[in-house]
Amino acid sequence: MSTTFSSYNARTGEVLGTLTASTAADIDAAANAAAAAFPLWQASSGAQRATLLRALAAGLEAGREALVALADQETALGPVRLNGELDRTAFQLRRFADIAERGVPFEYVDDPAVAGAPPAGHPAMQRWSVPLGPVAMYAASNFPFAFSVLGGDTASALAAGCPVVIKGHPGHPQLTRQTWELIQQVLAAQKLPAGLVGLVQGASNEVGVQLVRHPAMAAAAFTGSTRGGAALAAEAAARPRPIPFFGELGSINPVIALPAELQAKGAELATTLAGSIALGCGQFCTNPGVVVLLDVDAEARGINDAFVQQLAQALAGQNPHAMLTQGMRSNFEKGIAHWGEAGASFVMHEVAAAGQPPRPVLAQVGAEAFIAKAALREEVFGPSSLVVRAASVAQALQVLQAVGGSLTVTVWGAQTESSDAQALVRGAMAIAGRVLFAGVPTGVAVTAAQQHGGPWPSSTRPESTSVGDAALARFLRPVSLQDAPAWLVARQGRPL
Ligand code: NAP
Repeated sequence: MSTTFSSYNARTGEVLGTLTASTAADIDAAANAAAAAFPLWQASSGAQRATLLRALAAGLEAGREALVALADQETALGPVRLNGELDRTAFQLRRFADIAERGVPFEYVDDPAVAGAPPAGHPAMQRWSVPLGPVAMYAASNFPFAFSVLGGDTASALAAGCPVVIKGHPGHPQLTRQTWELIQQVLAAQKLPAGLVGLVQGASNEVGVQLVRHPAMAAAAFTGSTRGGAALAAEAAARPRPIPFFGELGSINPVIALPAELQAKGAELATTLAGSIALGCGQFCTNPGVVVLLDVDAEARGINDAFVQQLAQALAGQNPHAMLTQGMRSNFEKGIAHWGEAGASFVMHEVAAAGQPPRPVLAQVGAEAFIAKAALREEVFGPSSLVVRAASVAQALQVLQAVGGSLTVTVWGAQTESSDAQALVRGAMAIAGRVLFAGVPTGVAVTAAQQHGGPWPSSTRPESTSVGDAALARFLRPVSLQDAPAWLVARQGRPL
């Protein structure tokens, strides 16, 4: 493994600093320190967990100015977005503090003994939840706060009673280091072991691979590309003792727009959709990458043609900022080229001037080609969207089936119940973690009913979520206690 790696200015490519990469011995030490911290942390009270999480939120806010300035240099996401993301990250930490304080990680099912012969009769049972153990956490590049060092995975794992070893993202390595140093200060102030939150970093995939292979790791939480997630999920499964791998991956987030809806408010919807496609330079896992239009008759075809032109016009007015890394920029160009090679025609494809951020891209293709060619269904990470023209509701449903799994599906025009609306909603629910009936999929609320995940290829675990209150459940596992002694029952679900 390389011994050093660099931090880059995302706008200019200039080297901002050189960092020392974690060695195999460093990874081993971080994993073992997390394992050593586990007994203490799994037995901690909800109040102790809440105190830590609230202090981490306060630390993040106190360091805001320097952290946002550094994040802006390393990611080019801009201070407005980054301040908002820091607020969301602090909110998330406090939300999991409240959840821990309310005793959610210790909830249990009490099932008193029933006299008589089985199956109706049974012994006294209690079903507890216990923390899994040290969690390997893989940060994403496109959310340097909310899906990175102090993001939702770390917050929910700590609330569940699990230590964390963070695999930093090489796209914002100095920010990663500074955020982790802030955590270390908070741990020291609360007299908690430094190993409760570890950090490993490097520019090579090997660092992450070694971490997921480490015998002390009990679970992994990953946010990133489908390719990276698949590689690490395979490593997690190939261990002598396989571990759960919660991977939140790429997604193309179909938006299905019914002709009547476009006729009523096409211009407004085109503006909203263009904003969502170009937001953050299109670098969102919830970016609307596919727009499905229903050419059910000649009138609908005319409405849809007009909408495509409105969307292209609205996109032309968008000015995306620089992408997160040079590598992402070249992957974006390659993804767009693949669309062309697979038969899509470009509605809008301006070439950006040298050294300038990318221009938004809009392409169009028939549903048959989209269904036949996997290349058209791959996520193109950047400010782009592919319009798919379906001849009927039945064909639109085949388009959804071909997508297979998505974080979101948006259906515009299902406000009135009909057999078509029912079929589209059923088709959307079959492949998505979240189905929207208004607005756009970018923007993920941190709340109780949130579901951020979906069938493959959008995640490795469709039954779990990485955002919202239920994210906690990923890091707990049930244990039934049968005929438990009174002293154990009196603990009311609190692990020993
Ligand atoms: P990424 O390149 O996959 O990186 C994520 C993490 O995986 C990094 O720590 C990376 O570090 C590691 N990694 C990547 N390939 C690996 C491999 N083959 N073996 C071992 N480790 C590997 O993804 P990204 O650039 O951060 O983010 C962009 C992608 O994330 C997009 O596809 C986006 O849709 C998705 N995303 C999904 C969500 C969600 O919630 N579902 C949220 C945000 C982003 P190294 O490169 O150092 O190994």
